[in-house]
Amino acid sequence: MKRILLLFILVVGYSLHCFSQNYIKRQEIPVNPFGHALVPDMIADASIQLIGDTFYCYATTDGYDQGLNTSGPPVVWKSKDFVNWCFVGTCFPSAVKQKYWAPSKAVKANGKYYIYPTINGFMYPAVASSPDGPFNIAVGRDTLYTPYTSATLLKTKDGKPPYGIDAEIFIDDDGQAYVYWQWRHTAKLQADMVTVDTNVVTVKTPQTAYSEGPIFFKRKGVYYYLYTIGGGEKYQYAYVMGKQSPLGPFEAPAGSNIISTTNYDREIYGPGHGSVFNVPGTDDYYFAFLEFGRGSTNRQTYVNKLEFNEDGSIRPVDITMIGVGALKKTKTNRKLPVVNSYASSIRAVLKIKHEGDSLFHRTEAFVPYFAFDGANGSRWMPTSQDSVGWLVADLGNIVSVKRSEIYFVRPTAGHAYQLDYSVDGTNWKLCDGHDDLRMESPHTDNLKIKARYLRIIITKGVKGVWEWNLY
Ligand code: CA
Repeated sequence: MKRILLLFILVVGYSLHCFSQNYIKRQEIPVNPFGHALVPDMIADASIQLIGDTFYCYATTDGYDQGLNTSGPPVVWKSKDFVNWCFVGTCFPSAVKQKYWAPSKAVKANGKYYIYPTINGFMYPAVASSPDGPFNIAVGRDTLYTPYTSATLLKTKDGKPPYGIDAEIFIDDDGQAYVYWQWRHTAKLQADMVTVDTNVVTVKTPQTAYSEGPIFFKRKGVYYYLYTIGGGEKYQYAYVMGKQSPLGPFEAPAGSNIISTTNYDREIYGPGHGSVFNVPGTDDYYFAFLEFGRGSTNRQTYVNKLEFNEDGSIRPVDITMIGVGALKKTKTNRKLPVVNSYASSIRAVLKIKHEGDSLFHRTEAFVPYFAFDGANGSRWMPTSQDSVGWLVADLGNIVSVKRSEIYFVRPTAGHAYQLDYSVDGTNWKLCDGHDDLRMESPHTDNLKIKARYLRIIITKGVKGVWEWNLY
């Protein structure tokens, strides 16, 4: 009886302790409708691949608030485990101030790496000696003029490039390269990796409306061509398959030919332009897609498994925003738990507008907790009038802190910040940070302090944090 009473006291006591610590906070935590995005930034049109022991993600940088008129600068996100992603600086210096979209995967040929971004609306081959860059325009001077330079990928007989976007390259087992682009166009690419064959084929598909964001891959002798339909909240992927050649002919599968579509129950909208990748040496395939996000060019990218039926047809993807977790084991340190967080201000809840689907309902909240929830879809942001912009992490007790990793909002525009620490939350000392504007994510500080509280004061760059990890 005594034992039961003791257990009762312990359980109730512990519950009350948790209750007093978390009850108010739990009530205040809003829903994160953006889940576990692949990287802590807005990116679209992601092409993902494993090169050596590293995952590379080439993509359009979103989140610059100018709709289709702009993009962020080109960067390449990298990860050893598929969970922790980083980039440092631009991967294509001459394209930093251009409208840079949909770079495609990096393909290795002629001892170099090629990507095929759409810059200011035209497709360019770009080349580098490393998949990290720096990439240069592959033909002629590494200078971009509007509307285009002579170094565009596609040329008609009079030397003018036809309109076309979203190049994606496939190299078959015999070494022949093919290029796929907007409106279901495809052609052979010559060995120089920049000249397109004059025989341009339009892939025959059941859906014949506008299409972009092509994906092409081969599995067990079968060629798969994936193409988008629609856009916005109604973005979808459909596919055809064939065994003869990368140029076709292809057939629609016997079952559903739609791979991804809006899931209203889960409130996931318009899964579109992304890529398919395989971990070499396995039969594990993954489907990366952009989601409608915050509308316009404010999208994030997610990854789900891609699975096949016995006859080789693709199963419709059970679209989620949960993520696929680590794809490779790496040694990782345990994060210090943050028991409370507060900030100089909190931006008001944003109601996101639909772009044609009145069933779309979504709001975004910006509470400090979202910088510590382990989710790349949620973030803390202060009000736009907040001229200071600080965020505090409370570790609950005074502990040793060895490292801080900060993933700021709009990291490609660069940040400077001050990192402070405190044992009482009142008296603060500077421990790190930097004054110069650095374009990278995360911003890492190696520390040797004992502290209960840490504080970021953002001095340059967009004020906001997707995630802040302390070790
Ligand atoms: Ca977050």
